[in-house]
Amino acid sequence: AKGEGKARFRIFEPALAERVEARRTLETDMRRALKAGEFELHYQPLVDAHSGRVTAAEALVRWRHPRRGLVSPADFIPLAEETGLIMPLGAWVLRTACTDATRWPNAIKVAVNLSPVQFRDDRLPEAVEDILRETGLPARRLELEITEGVMFDDEERTLMMLSRLKAAGVGLAMDDFGTGYSSLSYLRRFPFDKIKIDRSFVRQLPADAESAAIVRAIITMGSCLGMTTTVEGVETAEQYAFVASEQCSQVQGYHVSRPLPSKDFVAFLVGQKAA
Ligand code: C2E
Ligand code: CA
Ligand code: CA
Ligand code: CA
Repeated sequence: AKGEGKARFRIFEPALAERVEARRTLETDMRRALKAGEFELHYQPLVDAHSGRVTAAEALVRWRHPRRGLVSPADFIPLAEETGLIMPLGAWVLRTACTDATRWPNAIKVAVNLSPVQFRDDRLPEAVEDILRETGLPARRLELEITEGVMFDDEERTLMMLSRLKAAGVGLAMDDFGTGYSSLSYLRRFPFDKIKIDRSFVRQLPADAESAAIVRAIITMGSCLGMTTTVEGVETAEQYAFVASEQCSQVQGYHVSRPLPSKDFVAFLVGQKAA
């Protein structure tokens, strides 16, 4: 038994050291990448559920790594949050998304994801207003997507910051709705305009009666609370038909379009106009 413990120690020690080392390398690499301009935004269209027209696009960050190719946010956002790199990265995302959106038709909004970590800085609402002023994007064309994670840190502070953003005229969407805790009380307390129904509820639509009931109930609740609803992760024509018939406001998902590089998103808009 003694020998076994020792063997286990030898197996785990290098693995841990390797992981720490890998994280340190990634962190250094990310700092370099920010300066080198290796991050880019892709835009996924959100369409009106009734007309099928594009009304907004969600900005989704990617890392065009010189060796690793296009890296997904799932592989670097968590570390960026742990190291604080999300602050400069998040500011870059916001500024770039607002700048890009000034080149789109006036009716099209841009949705930007904010990490709960960005709310730890009291100056966030001011920073958002500064970026709107600098880029000239009207506040009503910016929508901020926030997950429930943000409500855990300090409810009072978060509420104040969200209220200030709302007063500035920015739209607020609760992202990944239904995946966290206490969603219902948060919806009542916080000034959200929109609920984004997480794609985990959509995966088994329209066949699964329980998923259908949940999606239907969230849409009804949203509308009773004066909020619009976006259904995420709509991949098939059947799913699209179901959610559209349930009176949700907007649809987002591969069935409409994958996230597109900025140029391709503009082409998508032009193509839609011609159609
Ligand atoms: P999210 O905010 O829930 O974004 C939606 C994710 O679902 C995106 O993944 C999008 O590509 C994917 N998606 C869209 N439609 C479909 C579909 O029909 N089927 C499936 N299977 N997936 C679909 P992505 O771009 O990999 O982003 C993952 C997450 O990374 C985002 O989830 C968000 O939490 C985070 N993220 C992305 N960009 C940013 C950013 O600029 N800042 C912050 N803080 N987080 C970001
Ligand atoms: Ca989002
Ligand atoms: Ca989401
Ligand atoms: Ca998510």
